[in-house]
Amino acid sequence: MYFDPKFETMERDELEQLQLERLQSTLSRVSRNVPHYRTLFAKMDIDPDEFYSLDDVRRLPFTVKEDLRESYPYGLFAVPLREVVRLHASSGATGKPVVVGYTQNDVRKWSSLVARILTAGGAGRDDVVQIALGYGLFTGGFGFHYGAEALGCAVIPASSGNTGRQTAIMQDYRTTVLVCTPSYALYLADALDERNINVNALSLRHGLFGAEVWSEAMRGEIEARLKLTATNNYGLSEIMGPGVAGECLHKCGMHVNEDHFLMEIVDPVSGEPVKDGDMGELVLTTLTKEAFPMIRFRTGDLTRIIPGVCECGRTHRRIDRILGRTDDMLIIRGVNVFPSQVERVLLEVEGTTPHYRVVVDRLGALDEAVVEVEPTESMFFDSIGGHQKLVERIKRRLASDLGVAFGVKLVEPKSLERTTEGKVRRVVDKREIK
Ligand code: ADP
Ligand code: ZN
Repeated sequence: MYFDPKFETMERDELEQLQLERLQSTLSRVSRNVPHYRTLFAKMDIDPDEFYSLDDVRRLPFTVKEDLRESYPYGLFAVPLREVVRLHASSGATGKPVVVGYTQNDVRKWSSLVARILTAGGAGRDDVVQIALGYGLFTGGFGFHYGAEALGCAVIPASSGNTGRQTAIMQDYRTTVLVCTPSYALYLADALDERNINVNALSLRHGLFGAEVWSEAMRGEIEARLKLTATNNYGLSEIMGPGVAGECLHKCGMHVNEDHFLMEIVDPVSGEPVKDGDMGELVLTTLTKEAFPMIRFRTGDLTRIIPGVCECGRTHRRIDRILGRTDDMLIIRGVNVFPSQVERVLLEVEGTTPHYRVVVDRLGALDEAVVEVEPTESMFFDSIGGHQKLVERIKRRLASDLGVAFGVKLVEPKSLERTTEGKVRRVVDKREIK
């Protein structure tokens, strides 16, 4: 099932032609209306009318988060505020927030792109969709809300938090599709257990999860506990919000809405394109945005293009799960590690849960990283010997899989902070505080 079959299954050459035309008009829009780009283009001798191939995109300058912060709040808008109908901001997880704007057309397109993602993830007009993402400056809640309405679903704007109410709504309103962060999905699963609510008696069918890094093993756990099919979806406020990319029910990578976004994967250090299929930083250019167009935005998110075509019939290429953000990467004794890699190991070791955090500290001249993890309830009540064996098992696996010697500490079940609103923070870096 497609929401927009004409575009989602377009032949590649036709799609690329469309991308080129849209890129040309985006470039002329920003060079006319955004001083930042006009100055840069002039300095770099770039004439937007002389773009004949998509490869020319490499001649364009990157836009980085710092450029957005410097233009706070409206410096990069390409339309006057009179034409803006909505403002959002990034959650500021990595610094000063960034304000983004949308025209009426932008909101309309955004809604239909989210409707595509929902359709790809199994939702349709008969569904009752519970959106347990924050409604507010964060793009997640409103983005999914408008998309689900455009699709014709019955939308419950539950917003984030208030878990008791969430589980009651899920039961009473007979929610069929759940939209939230993956960590909150697990939190809801715990909450259902605590309230002795039988998950089999609920009506859940599909879950669309995103906004933070998660693993394949975590998908397995969410699917088993909530009895639904879980798909991954990706978006970011600087580019639009949710609706940039999402998985179909084949669950093998997220189709990027390429008729609206041009993607590149570059080496995060050199900025040069990587070989097809190799891991690198995702760079996105918007092709149809009116109020807040972005040229070659460095997302900071690491992923790769999955080679080949998907069985679902969509021709848009897929990106792999996000491995992490370039700025979340931990360098421990010279080895690069992402929290998501730690998570993958933990989920493979029996007796642990995906509730963990990595605490990094400097002892003398050396970095020390300790993984704090909650064991399962039954393991927690095991003997001291049992605990020691588990700790050793985790240590061995982390060392062999990631090449770093981690300390491991078991903490009491449910003792690590849960986020019922917003995103989980997996890393506590005490090196910065000192
Ligand atoms: P902030 O940068 O303040 O968190 P956003 O709310 O716009 O602002 O978050 C966008 C970021 O969230 C992305 O750049 C990415 O790092 C992360 N993200 C979004 N979706 C996913 C996903 N499916 N998997 C992993 N990370 C994701
Ligand atoms: Zn597919």
